[in-house]
Amino acid sequence: MSCRLVVVGAGGRMGRLVALRAAADPAFHLVGLIDRPGHASLGTRLDGLGEAAPAISDDLRGALARGADVVVEFALAPASAGTADAAAAAGVACLIGTTGHDDAARAAFDRAAAHIPLLVAANMSIGITALLSQLGGLARALDGFDVAIVEAHHAAKRDAPSGTALALGRALPDPAAVRYSSIRAGSLPGTHTVLFAGTGEHVEVTHRAESRECFAAGALRAALWLRGRPAGCYTMQDVLSSPTVPAEA
Ligand code: NAD
Repeated sequence: MSCRLVVVGAGGRMGRLVALRAAADPAFHLVGLIDRPGHASLGTRLDGLGEAAPAISDDLRGALARGADVVVEFALAPASAGTADAAAAAGVACLIGTTGHDDAARAAFDRAAAHIPLLVAANMSIGITALLSQLGGLARALDGFDVAIVEAHHAAKRDAPSGTALALGRALPDPAAVRYSSIRAGSLPGTHTVLFAGTGEHVEVTHRAESRECFAAGALRAALWLRGRPAGCYTMQDVLSSPTVPAEA
């Protein structure tokens, strides 16, 4: 059976792309497209989705009640606690791609994960997920090198350093020693470099998102994976390291 999906932030760059890719994939059925109250997209249909797709609305709880299996959010950080709470109340699996959360949002995620499968990932690309799982080993091999993380994103990105840069920092043996540098310019979809600088040599590991497609593809893969899982907090590394559970399982 197809995965019944709600997309929060559907009027934005990532939400729109996730909705378009889900609509083109028979593994998904869009049951709700949500944006914030007052947003210009409310009541409109996304170009390319056709009349059968839901119009964008601000009624998240109503959309979740339409038999949703998974809600995917790419919005702004203040939205995420409400999305996680609503998903937990409705018993719907929740995937949060939004970045820039504070402690209150993280507490809401912990609450929700007691009731539903929840995955929060600052970067849903396969490349960054693989890098996160390998980085600790490289850092240990380069013990004593200074570590810096340099990231560049489009000018409209609000949080800095990016959630991905912070996740990369947390994957290193000594997160407190990492120096961060952020560039906000133009329409860049996202570049992250981890720089290990020694004496007379340095090592750079760079991930470049060539477009937002890698994030949308990762989000849809994670949504299929999350459906039907037991309650708990999951990561993109979990998604890549075990097969998708069929809906009937
Ligand atoms: P955007 O500004 O283009 O879109 C955000 C959308 O969310 C807007 O339409 C906005 O109106 C909507 N929104 C804001 N508050 C809302 C609320 N309370 N309820 C419903 N909708 C709400 O931003 P974007 O470029 O699409 O990025 C969205 C988020 O995703 C950012 O936090 C960004 O850092 C993150 N991001 C994550 C990944 C990943 O792989 N996890 C990849 C790219 C971007």
